[in-house]
Amino acid sequence: MASTADIAVIGGSGFYDLEGLRDARPLEVDTPFGATSSPILVGELHGKRVAFIARHGEGHRILPAEVPSRANLWALKHLGVRRVLAVSAVGSLQQQYHPLDAVVPDQLLDRTRGRAATYFGDGVVAHIGFADPFCDETREALAAASEAAGVTTHRGGTLVVIEGPAFSTRAESRLYQSWGAAVIGMTALPEAKLAREAELCYASICYVTDYDVWHDQEEDVGVELVVENMRRNIQHARDTVSRTIAALPIEGACACGDALNGAVITAPDAVPPATRQRLAFMLDRYWGVQ
Ligand SMILES: [Zn+2]
Repeated sequence: MASTADIAVIGGSGFYDLEGLRDARPLEVDTPFGATSSPILVGELHGKRVAFIARHGEGHRILPAEVPSRANLWALKHLGVRRVLAVSAVGSLQQQYHPLDAVVPDQLLDRTRGRAATYFGDGVVAHIGFADPFCDETREALAAASEAAGVTTHRGGTLVVIEGPAFSTRAESRLYQSWGAAVIGMTALPEAKLAREAELCYASICYVTDYDVWHDQEEDVGVELVVENMRRNIQHARDTVSRTIAALPIEGACACGDALNGAVITAPDAVPPATRQRLAFMLDRYWGVQ
């Protein structure tokens, strides 16, 4: 089947559509994991087929813990997507990550609770490697594009993902800071984990809106300033995503596309038929279609 889309963008807070997407049409994709966050907008940008999902839905209706990540990534995989660019707003945990900076993290710390974080289970056991949770090629492309867009860009750093929707306590924030983490957000997990299971290249670019509450600021940061920072961050994100799509080859030379090779422990004939059918989009290439 020819791909409907090659590269996908998952937009975070404030990033609800993709400028310049030509001949864009919204697709409703039925998935075994329910509805996607939003209809998936598919069109053409810089000669590539691009899909766009608004992570929090149209009108920003979906809490971080409610984002249907399994459906979103299943749908993207189903459309033929190979690479996913994820955009998020984050708080800074260290002085050197200033508001309006971009961070392309290379590590994650999972502080979420009880989110559906795997496609496996229901009779099939698999363990993917997740030591390096992001695709290095895609990270590099995002970082280079961000620099070209004139944004102060940090290559690497640990992103703490908390459950939310409340922000951290001051004690939590100081703890994460003492762990050396760079920035804090609510949505990169389980997204990154599911992308790895689905053998997609996945990288995240995070835009700092403000310092998290560890910071003893001389004066409280007003909502107005945070909103203004978010507005400018979204402009940077749009520019960076567009440049990344122009520059990034669809085929990776990385190992993301073979993440399930050797990962599944369960014998194929021991997997219940319903589970097998549900995971066919990932596993048929290993098990063959029967
Ligand atoms: Zn990759």
